[in-house]
Amino acid sequence: MLNLVLFGPPGAGKGTQSAFLVDRYQLVHLSTGDLFRYNIKNETELGVLAKSYMDKGQLVPDSVTISMLEDAVNKNPEAQGFIFDGFPRTNPQAAALDAFLSSQSTSITSMVALEVPEAELRLRLAERAKTSGRPDDADPLVIQNRIDVYNNETAPVKAFYEAKGKYKGINGVGSIEEITERLVAIIDTL
Ligand code: AMP
Repeated sequence: MLNLVLFGPPGAGKGTQSAFLVDRYQLVHLSTGDLFRYNIKNETELGVLAKSYMDKGQLVPDSVTISMLEDAVNKNPEAQGFIFDGFPRTNPQAAALDAFLSSQSTSITSMVALEVPEAELRLRLAERAKTSGRPDDADPLVIQNRIDVYNNETAPVKAFYEAKGKYKGINGVGSIEEITERLVAIIDTL
């Protein structure tokens, strides 16, 4: 199986690039942000809970997020591999993912990170807000909070995979096509 963690701060282009990678490598795309938004749209109990955190740019608690992700993996028994997008976002999530995949006799092949400077992220998120319909893109204070949460809680996940020799960073600034090419160049070596 090819199991990728597509990593990067909010606005790095994880969702955009996932769409290409899914096609090219025949993977199932699992975005925890998308799964939460689906639950919000359908007004489930999980959606109501998640919204209370997402609207402020905070992380949804680990226990809820981990079990939602495991359910989503279990719903795809035929998958040839997964792209995890927006997960893991904390070290406990990374440890839980490792344990879960190992119980399924598989593992993360690599974390591939889109590296984008903060000033560029702010510009991209402000631009995305015009069309995304996402309340968490529309408010500069919420955007700042998401970037702060990324720096404090999510960036340390890089070290988790680095310690296993599984971290690959690429320059996430450029055209969508250029960035896809950089990702493919790395993934083809895995
Ligand atoms: P995203 O679509 O990845 O930008 O995620 C949007 C929001 O969903 C985040 O700001 C968090 O509030 C929540 N979220 C998504 N993934 C996670 C995760 N792995 N852990 C905790 N919260 C998450």
